[in-house]
Formats: sequence, C-alpha cells, structure tokens
Amino acid sequence: LVSRDVKEEDTVISFPGTNATIGGRDLAIVAGPCSIESREQAFAVAEQIAAAGAQFFRGGAYKPRTSPYMFQGLGEQALIIMAEVRDRFGLRIVTEAMDTENLDLVADYADVIQIGARNMQNYTLLKAVGRKRQPVLLKRGMSATLDELLMAAEYIMSEGNYQVILCERGVRTFIDHTRNTLDLSIVPAVHRLSHLPILVDPSHGTGKRNKVVPLARAAVAVGADGLMVEVHDQPDKALSDGAQSIYPEQFVQMMDEITQIAPVV
Ligand code: PEP
Ligand code: MN
Repeated sequence: LVSRDVKEEDTVISFPGTNATIGGRDLAIVAGPCSIESREQAFAVAEQIAAAGAQFFRGGAYKPRTSPYMFQGLGEQALIIMAEVRDRFGLRIVTEAMDTENLDLVADYADVIQIGARNMQNYTLLKAVGRKRQPVLLKRGMSATLDELLMAAEYIMSEGNYQVILCERGVRTFIDHTRNTLDLSIVPAVHRLSHLPILVDPSHGTGKRNKVVPLARAAVAVGADGLMVEVHDQPDKALSDGAQSIYPEQFVQMMDEITQIAPVV
C-alpha cells in the first residue's frame, strides 16, 4: 500500500476548514515547543509561528524522555491547551500518542497523531492508529532503515488508515558533533519508492539551535514536503529540548529563507 507501484500520484492530505495540506506542491510547516509547559508558553509560541506562516502547531503532552525523572509532559492538561491554540490561532494540532492506553484521549484532541521514533516498530500501537481516522505522522526510528520505515507505514495502512506522513528526524551514527545525523538522502529515496509525503525534523536531527535553520533549508532543497521544527519563546528555560529549540525570530527568518526555495501556503 505504501508503494508507488500501487498508487502513482502523490498522497495529499487535506484538513477541512483550512487550506493547509501535507504532500503535493506546498510546504507543510509544523512548529511549536517540544513540550507544552503552560498556556502562556503555548500561546506565545503559537501566535508567532502562525503570524510567520506555519499551518500546524506541535507540542508534547506525553513525552518519551530518556530519564524517568525528567519532565514527562502535562498530559491531558496539555491537550486542552492545544485545543485552545487551535481555536484561537487556527493552527492544526500535531501531538504524540506514546501508547495504546493514551491513544484514544490523544486522538480526541489531535488533528495529526504523532508516533515517535522510539515507537516506530511498536506494531500494536501502529495497528491501533491504523484504526483511527486522523492522519498519522510516523517518525523514523533512530536506527531504522528505509524499508523498515516504509513497512511501519504499511502496518498503519493495512488497518485502513491511508493518511500517513513520514518524518526523517535523524539517525544514530558515530558522529558526536550533533545529537543525531540527519539523513536527507532518505527524502528522494522515499519519493521514488512511495507516494507518501515526508517531512524533515532538523531539530531532533541536529540537537543544536544554530544548525536547525541551515538544515531546514537543505531539507526543502532536497524536496521535503515540509518541516517539523521546535520553537520556544524562552529556550533557556525549556523543560525539554531547549538546546535545539529556535527563537521565534529565527523561525521568521527560516520561513523567509525557505519560501525562496519552495512555496508555503
Ligand atoms: C518529538 O517530536 O517531540 C520527539 C520526541 O521526537 P522523536 O520521537 O523523533 O525523538
Ligand atoms: Mn523534542
């Protein structure tokens, strides 16, 4: 089902009530903080990214953190805040479902259900989102091959949900000057083999604020269908991923630069 041999034309996912699409000609821009920390924080970021042209707001409610003692997310409270963001700013909401237990609740609030890198091969979860109606953003596992990524998408589609968006977010390599190695070569490879759209996440892909905008430009140049970028109004105080979160002013600059490469509607 993921294959271009089965469906030749690109999958374009649309969002009723907006002119936002994922796939096709225009870039889809997903931006927002790593975690929702408060209504004030979420609104401050959402206002600025919406003004700069983003169509989607991201924010973690349930966070897959390396240490159980790190901030785990605000849970349903964060989902409620994101629903307010949607109403106030007209942004569609992208947020992660970490397990089948919280999937129904996340699906009640999300416009796009995110499956995180650590869950790319959680086949029970993939089948469960396959039975949902919303689009699913599937992040590449940190050591997943292209075939493994496409087969994970196949799990979702095999249950009847064809609205799958892939996302490259960097893979583990020996290098240590960035958090992960962003594999931009997967973008044309996906486009050749599959009709599904693919976004690039240069935030988790590099882990470093000053590398996010250059890699965002590169992702667009290589043909990505859009970007997922972490933006925070006070990155130094962020409860997660502050070091890779860009300032709203940098986001504005990024939008200006990428629209010189490809259109954003
Ligand atoms: C995220 O997008 O917040 C996230 C946790 O990303 P990943 O699953 O790619 O690490
Ligand atoms: Mn993050």
